[in-house]
Amino acid sequence: MYIVQVASEVAPVAKVGGLADVMMGLNRELQNKGHRVELILPKYDCLDAKGLSLECRQTGVRTYFEDKWHENAIWHTCINNDQSLTLLQSLHPKLFFDRGTIYGCHDDIDRFLYFSRAVLDWLALQQETPDIIHIHDWETAAIAFLIRQGPFTRRFEKTRTVLTIHNMAYQGHCSVEDLDKIGLSGAWYDAPKRLLEDFGTSLNLLKGGIVFSDYTTTVSPNYAKEVLTPEGGKGLQLALKENLHKFSGILNGLDYNYWNTETDPHIYFPYSSSHLGNKQANAASLRDELGLQQTKEKPLVVAITRLVEQKGVDQLRHVIQVSHDKGIQCVILGAAPDPAIHYEFVDLAQKYANDPDVRILLAQEEALAHKLYAASDMFLMPSLFEPCGLGQIIALRYGSIPIVRKTGGLADTVFDVDYSGKPFTETNGFVYENADNTGIDSALDRAIQLWKNDHKKWKKLMVQAMNFDFSWNASSALYIDIYKKILKLV
Ligand code: ADP
Repeated sequence: MYIVQVASEVAPVAKVGGLADVMMGLNRELQNKGHRVELILPKYDCLDAKGLSLECRQTGVRTYFEDKWHENAIWHTCINNDQSLTLLQSLHPKLFFDRGTIYGCHDDIDRFLYFSRAVLDWLALQQETPDIIHIHDWETAAIAFLIRQGPFTRRFEKTRTVLTIHNMAYQGHCSVEDLDKIGLSGAWYDAPKRLLEDFGTSLNLLKGGIVFSDYTTTVSPNYAKEVLTPEGGKGLQLALKENLHKFSGILNGLDYNYWNTETDPHIYFPYSSSHLGNKQANAASLRDELGLQQTKEKPLVVAITRLVEQKGVDQLRHVIQVSHDKGIQCVILGAAPDPAIHYEFVDLAQKYANDPDVRILLAQEEALAHKLYAASDMFLMPSLFEPCGLGQIIALRYGSIPIVRKTGGLADTVFDVDYSGKPFTETNGFVYENADNTGIDSALDRAIQLWKNDHKKWKKLMVQAMNFDFSWNASSALYIDIYKKILKLV
């Protein structure tokens, strides 16, 4: 099959969160399974393109936007050794992708509507027609209905679309006029069975993706159930229920080539589940690098996360504040897009700046994240909701035992040592239910007790965790099944 993926992130060159990891891992596996995969992203000025050779392949590709035609340039590069990446550079006077950021601009709706339209304008010029266009989140959801309109209808008659929802919290609220800008008849979409919100007055790009794509997935089976409720669906539960015949959850995998403790170039010392000795050496080096005291008495507990409400910032703050009482070392690596949360953590970071056991690092740093996964004993993920979560899956692979709230994909991947009902050999972490401080304490305290009192059992748990298989092999096969089903190949 010829599969085109259209997204707003890919690791490691344009990464904000898990979507970037998914784009890297899923595409690699689809390629390994013999499919032709083309990934298209905006050419952001903030791409981390160090060491990449970028080639301009085409200029003068025109896109309709707000009654005029604008030019784009198409660039090409290879990432992660053998993955083809096409980058669309907009030459629109508003320089949509030269903003020093991937998200968070006042005109994000315009930026990504422009991108969605431009991708189809470019694909329409190519000789080959994609079998599948796989779109991700609200940013590219408009492709699901653009493709069935105007100049694109005949051109992509045989192409089928799949939408993957990585997080229901981000939906792309827009207006009739916004759709007019990309050449759609916006007013036609202003109807309950189309883009009009069930519980609001705006149009909703993600809803449009659900209604008009040939299939919609989300990123874990458990989250696929949660989004059918008002709490999980965040206003789109009815749209999903009406389209249940073409909706399911597929667990995200992890790219084990990239996240590999034996070859990871970012960590201090390689290790594996059969040679765990170097894990302690990683911890010692990290303590040196961060200026933490060297100790064998305190487990190193980390969180690596976007600092947004969803991720349980209250519980993270709580753990920092009780870390001395609990006898742990605690490191948080996070970036906070919300200024209120950012400044609150800046204050906390200053308060603990010289603490021998606590560090709060407000940054987005890929290399440091790898070092933290490798060095840590435990990994905190106190999410209020979590579509899939990759942090806990990476932590498992790096032998850092996850302590998570039972929600979304966390419930599909972390199995409690004491309460999962599984034999110990099939467990890999600590899970709690209530999204409050007592909840996280109950799981963290059990983990600390085991770490301190039974080294042998803890080591077994680490080995079990590292040997769990959440690779893309099985999940990519499920995507291929869906592609074939909607192409009527099966
Ligand atoms: P989400 O996609 O909601 O942000 P996930 O757990 O699915 O959450 O994916 C998070 C990914 O982003 C992981 O690869 C994690 O290591 C990475 N990450 C999150 N915050 C940071 C940060 N501040 N620095 C480096 N990597 C980060």
